[in-house]
Amino acid sequence: MTFSQSVKSEILKSVRNVKGCCKTAFLTAVLKSIGSLSIEFKKFSFEIESDNHEFLSVCSDFAASEYGCNGKIESCNVNAKGAAVYSCNFDGNIGEKLGLTERDKDGLIQFCQDTAKLIPASNCCKRSFLQGLFVACGSVAIPVADTDIGENTTRSKYHLELRFADSDFAEQILSAYSDIPFRSTIRKAYKILYLKDSERIADFLVYINAMKGKLKLENVIIGRSMRNNANRQSNCISANIEKAVVAAEKQLTAISALKNIGVYDSLPVQLKEIAELRNEYPEATLDEIAAKLKISKSGANHRFTKIIDIANSKGL
Ligand SMILES: [Zn+2]
Repeated sequence: MTFSQSVKSEILKSVRNVKGCCKTAFLTAVLKSIGSLSIEFKKFSFEIESDNHEFLSVCSDFAASEYGCNGKIESCNVNAKGAAVYSCNFDGNIGEKLGLTERDKDGLIQFCQDTAKLIPASNCCKRSFLQGLFVACGSVAIPVADTDIGENTTRSKYHLELRFADSDFAEQILSAYSDIPFRSTIRKAYKILYLKDSERIADFLVYINAMKGKLKLENVIIGRSMRNNANRQSNCISANIEKAVVAAEKQLTAISALKNIGVYDSLPVQLKEIAELRNEYPEATLDEIAAKLKISKSGANHRFTKIIDIANSKGL
C-alpha cells in the first residue's frame, strides 16, 4: 500500500462515523470533483469511477443513508497498472439534492454554475468536504528510503496535491481554505493545488484527520533530519582531518628543507622542540602536539607558522 492509499484508507474508516451533515459534505465534494453526469434511456445518472472499492461503498452508503439514493457499484474496467476499476452509479436526482445540478428552462439537467455555494461554511463539514476531495482527487507522496511504509520512492520529495478538472472550482477551494498555504499550477487539462513543505503537509493530514499518516510522515522527517545531521557531521570531520593532514605535510616539508640547508640547528629552541615532535608524530593534530608541549593550540600554530616563514624566507 502506498502512503497515499494508507492515508485514504484511514480517512475512509473515520468518515463512516461522522454526522449526517458531514456525510453530505463528503459526498458533495466527491461528486463535484470526479462525478460525471450521463443519460441513458432518458434517465440521468451520476457516476464516479475508482479503483478503490471501499471508497465507492462509503459514497454509496452515504447516498443511501442521507438521501435514500442507492449507488450501484460494478466492476467496469482495468487501469494502466492492471488493477480493477469500479464504477458507482447514483440516481440522477442525487445531483439536485446535493445542489450539484439544476434543470434548465427545458427541464434538462445540467451542472450548476455557482459551485462556490457547494463549499460548506461550518468547520465540521468543511473538514469532511476536504476529506472527500482528497480521497477523490488527491494524492500524497513522501520520501521513503529505509522505512516500512513500502513505497519505493527513494528519490521522491514531499508532495501533496488535489487535482481539479474545473479550474473555477479550484479557485473557490483556494479562497475557502485560505489558511492552507496551497500553491497552484496547471498540468495538462487540470488545475493542481499542491503543498511541498513537509510541515504544511503534516498540518494538512491533521486537518483531514489522518493522524496515523501524520505520524508516519513525522517519522520520515525525523529520520531524514537525523541522517542529514550525521552526514553533515561526518563531512565536517573529514574536512577537518584533510586540513590537518595538509598542514602537517607543509610543516614536515619546511622542517626537512631547513635541515637540508643546515639552518635547522640554529633555530630557537622552542621551534626545534615543536619540529622534533612533528617529526616524531607526523599524524598528530595541532591539539595533540600543543598538549604534549603544554602550550595552547594557537601557541603551537604560531611556532609552526614561524618555521614555515623561515623556510619561505630562505626561498624553500
Ligand atoms: Zn458537518
